[in-house]
Amino acid sequence: MGPEIRLDGDALRHNVAAFAALGAPVAAVVKSDGYGWGARRLARELDPHVESYVVADDDELAALRPATAKPVRLLADVPAARLRRVLALGGIANVSTREGIAAAAAAGAPLVRVGILDATGWSAIPPDEAGAFAGALTATGLAVELWTHVTSPAREAAILADLAAARRVFEAAGVRVAGVDVASTASARRETAGARLRIGAGLFGGRLGSPVATRCAIAVRAPVVRRYRAGEARWAGYGDRPVPVGRPLAVLRCGYGDGFPQELADSADILAVGMQYTTRALGTGDPSLLIGPEDDLDALAARARRSVHQLVVGLAR
Ligand SMILES: *Cc1c(COP(=O)(O)O)cnc(C)c1O
Repeated sequence: MGPEIRLDGDALRHNVAAFAALGAPVAAVVKSDGYGWGARRLARELDPHVESYVVADDDELAALRPATAKPVRLLADVPAARLRRVLALGGIANVSTREGIAAAAAAGAPLVRVGILDATGWSAIPPDEAGAFAGALTATGLAVELWTHVTSPAREAAILADLAAARRVFEAAGVRVAGVDVASTASARRETAGARLRIGAGLFGGRLGSPVATRCAIAVRAPVVRRYRAGEARWAGYGDRPVPVGRPLAVLRCGYGDGFPQELADSADILAVGMQYTTRALGTGDPSLLIGPEDDLDALAARARRSVHQLVVGLAR
């Protein structure tokens, strides 16, 4: 019998409310099948509480649609031939090319998303192309939602200034700007709330520096397969990690094969993490609860020497 790895629906909803308290509704980012946890499953927990959803492309939109009637925003451009599918599924398309603008207009889209960002990995236009792009949009009458993404805390001010400048250029060209969204979990603050907050990792309890009181929505409970009295065992797992003197131990059926980071070994009460078994020094808490509501996902990710995103995705089943 392996570990029980669960999502806490109440904590997910608490986190949505905590971000929304910054002053804008939450668009739940459920790309990559809801960070591995299931986009439809997240929608079943969150649908009445979120404004909309964000996914990567039309396949993710199609997979999510049975679970929600709310708007679904796409992050990536889709090829012209698939734009009608996006519209038929009630998706809001993203465009970052002239061909994309023409295809969206031809398909009868009322609104498209346009990203302003000079970084690879997103379907956005570089800030210095805003003027030419606005010119191409004006002729079509398409309204736009402008967005950017803070891909570097150090460059946040410049990224936001580029977005504000692009907005002025679009409006001067006669393009109707229906809304602006900027913030993901890390950049979510009252000042960046805009029309909506795009929250992914924060749903699970990540803060990434954002001033929100989130709760850990991931729970990992592992069966205790063996207990050792204080002094009964000498070494923990592989290698030369001595067990602490005077502490009883438990071996739990959960390991890195279950997504529990091996890097957590040798931190706090976790002495060793093998593929399927973890050795823990026992204190006063519930011995079988490896990750629970009292945990802080950001601190846990730091101890595991990975990002909150990697931790969340790695624990998904
Ligand atoms: C993935 C992504 C998000 C969500 O980021 P989190 O850090 O998980 O909140 C928001 N916006 C864009 C453009 C993204 O690619």
